[in-house]
Amino acid sequence: MRDCNACGKCCIKYGSGQLAASPEDLEIWSSFRPDIDAYVNDGKIWFDPQSKALLDRCPWLKVDPLSPSRYLCEVYADRPEDCRAYPMTLTDMLNDECEMLEPSDLNNLKQAEIDLKKIS
Ligand code: SF4
Ligand code: SF4
Repeated sequence: MRDCNACGKCCIKYGSGQLAASPEDLEIWSSFRPDIDAYVNDGKIWFDPQSKALLDRCPWLKVDPLSPSRYLCEVYADRPEDCRAYPMTLTDMLNDECEMLEPSDLNNLKQAEIDLKKIS
């Protein structure tokens, strides 16, 4: 299994209303990261600070200027719990076409499951 190559697929897929932050995340953002907290609405993420509409894309996902096919997370150190936990399961990785998966993983899913447990 490869390291994450920042393809952005998971962020693009889940960044619109399918991510959750933990109570601790919300507390930290409320106290120390008002810029992130501005995108929270009633404990849920990510909402437009002005209109309060659910965003169709995570506001912190940016194209890497040094490599336009790669992405950066602008709040990486303070990203929400769901983002820190990804990838949790091989099923998610397969469904999301996560680029951490290599041909050898696809040929031996049992071993891939074991490898994922080691890194998560
Ligand atoms: S907060 Fe960061 S890791 Fe999470 S979806 Fe947005 S860009 Fe991706
Ligand atoms: S889909 Fe996989 S390889 Fe791509 S950014 Fe997410 S974790 Fe990294």
